[in-house]
Amino acid sequence: MNLHTSLEHIKGVGPKTAEQLRLSGLETVRDLVYFLPRKHEDFSIISTIDTLSPGRRTIKARVESVTTKSVRRGMKVTTAVLDDGSGKVQAVWFNQAYRQTQFSDTKQEYFFSGDFEFSYNRYQFTNPSAEKVVDMPVQTDRLLPVYRSIKGLKSQLVRKLLAELRPLLTMIPDTLPDTIVRSEQLASTSEALLGMHFPETQAQVVRARERLAFEELFQLLLASERNKQENAKLLSWPVTFQQSVVKEIVARLPFELTPGQKQVIWEILQDIERQEPMNRMLQGDVGAGKTVVAAVVARQVVSAGHQVAVLAPTEILASQHAKTFATLLEPLGVKVAFLAGSVSKKRREPLLENIENGQAQVVVGTHALLEPSVRFNKLGLVVIDEQHRFGVNQRQKLLDKSERMPHLLAMTATPIPRSLALTVYGELDISIIKQKPANRLPIETEIWSPVSRKQLYQTIDAELAAGRQAYVICRLIDDNPANDTKSVEAEYKKLQNSLFGHRKMGLLHGKMKPGEKEQVMQQFLAHEIDILVSTTVVEVGVDVPNATVMLIEDADQYGLSQLHQLRGRVGRSSHQSYCYLMTSDTKKPTRRLREVEQSNDGFYLAEVDLKLRGPGEIYGRAQHGSLNLQVATLADTELIQRAQRAARAFVRSDANLLQYDQLAEQVARYQRLTTLN
Ligand code: ADP
Ligand code: MG
Repeated sequence: MNLHTSLEHIKGVGPKTAEQLRLSGLETVRDLVYFLPRKHEDFSIISTIDTLSPGRRTIKARVESVTTKSVRRGMKVTTAVLDDGSGKVQAVWFNQAYRQTQFSDTKQEYFFSGDFEFSYNRYQFTNPSAEKVVDMPVQTDRLLPVYRSIKGLKSQLVRKLLAELRPLLTMIPDTLPDTIVRSEQLASTSEALLGMHFPETQAQVVRARERLAFEELFQLLLASERNKQENAKLLSWPVTFQQSVVKEIVARLPFELTPGQKQVIWEILQDIERQEPMNRMLQGDVGAGKTVVAAVVARQVVSAGHQVAVLAPTEILASQHAKTFATLLEPLGVKVAFLAGSVSKKRREPLLENIENGQAQVVVGTHALLEPSVRFNKLGLVVIDEQHRFGVNQRQKLLDKSERMPHLLAMTATPIPRSLALTVYGELDISIIKQKPANRLPIETEIWSPVSRKQLYQTIDAELAAGRQAYVICRLIDDNPANDTKSVEAEYKKLQNSLFGHRKMGLLHGKMKPGEKEQVMQQFLAHEIDILVSTTVVEVGVDVPNATVMLIEDADQYGLSQLHQLRGRVGRSSHQSYCYLMTSDTKKPTRRLREVEQSNDGFYLAEVDLKLRGPGEIYGRAQHGSLNLQVATLADTELIQRAQRAARAFVRSDANLLQYDQLAEQVARYQRLTTLN
């Protein structure tokens, strides 16, 4: 038997079991060996109910009675009374309705393990785990690994199978280079896997986790380093810095650049002087002034005889950028063109021609720019707004349109915590604009409860009376745009029947055609609309300086970074702006909302968001879910730094990655994942 052996060859696995395992992604011995426990329950000390004190506790008890009730918003609460002969205690589970059937047999004895705490006016166990006493493996009487449940199989089975594999675990060769294991003083692969599946002490679990987490991070960071190396092999057009060109455009700006903007422009200009394509991400909080940075750089690139493409995620944003670039660059003789899905066929033909013959020097548009019909003429720079990275596929498309790889500048208002920047975006160089232009007043943010809605409307109406405009963002129902539309329409009606009845209102949602959206945004910009009722489609980039009020309904339903992004739609002029966070019920506001109320710092909020929700929630499951980190957390900056040092050293040494099978395989996977999308 070895790691590649199929699981059906293990004792105790019949065809049915093998099929269930396969459905859960477990096919080989290796899959099972790396099927790591979610946690370990400590059964070394069993308390009796009459002596329980608050904390993480384990008891051995029967279930006397169990009931399940539905409370608000589909939440199910299951309550059980547990009895161990010394006394009785209550246990509560939230949204685990299966507990109701699980505990129907009152004779069965279980170990319950979890937090014994004071809540809802009594001491109780909250969401304890439960293991049948008869199922407990004989050899584990202390730390019990708890595995994710596999559909159709008893929770015991995984433990039994692993027990079969235990002798093999002791012989597994190391998956990391020797030198690294030694210099980082890590547990060996074998030691780590034994420590996860068969720990005798908590210290063994800690050491096992450290090793496995380090390995995951090392793989991820090594993948970044190799992506960087591969990028460096590509050839771009070097753009020589000409002081007079840059000075001219900067002198014509209607404002002074902030020190942060100057610094970043300098970093980019230095980058694009090289033959190796730039691969840089510019982070700057909403309103930090990233567009003008791109425009100054674009001016230099055009002046060196190359084309610039500017890509925006939506048509509204693309057209706004086209206008900004035209305003800044056309007086200097630069030709700016706009291309998006809505551009008519008749206007498209000559436009495509101008792009191909190089007359259009800066081309602003949506992803329509990537279509095969668009051919560039010495494309020197691609600016991507509001997207974190540009995948290999997209880059390949650009390369097909251009003899050389263009320099890439990705701009994002989503502040990315340092740990994520290092791991997930490791192949990008990062520039950050920290300050905002000095003429901005900080936005005042307040949490409101629906009971005071009328008073809030009066406050907002006073702003409208003073000539300002407002956004009202509606409830995020689910991922279904049809439901969003319904909620926007309902909100619109509600506002019309309120004291805002005499105000001009507009409506914006994801189901509208690009042309319709554009029209509404134009009306709002021209102040033909006082209140714009919208879904989160206004989230990115849109700039209406006269709008000073942002009311977000059901604010508790959003993530911190998203609230901060929405808030960034206001505060874009020298008028005082306000952001009102309306809670969905009258309960005490959550810690998350209070963080947004108290901080205007997008980076800080992103760090908090990362801690509270994890990267998958924030940056999209598709991207980060697939990273599939089992043990490492991206919040562990210290380990990330260690892994990064090791990855760099490995790349610099002449070690051959292919010598390490499993490592090479994982690194290749991460390389694909992190350059893709
Ligand atoms: P973002 O970084 O969110 O993309 P924008 O580039 O849209 O920000 O800039 C926001 C607004 O700030 C624009 O109206 C822009 O003209 C203005 N702006 C940019 N830089 C400065 C500056 N240095 N001083 C004053 N206003 C500026
Ligand atoms: Mg922007």
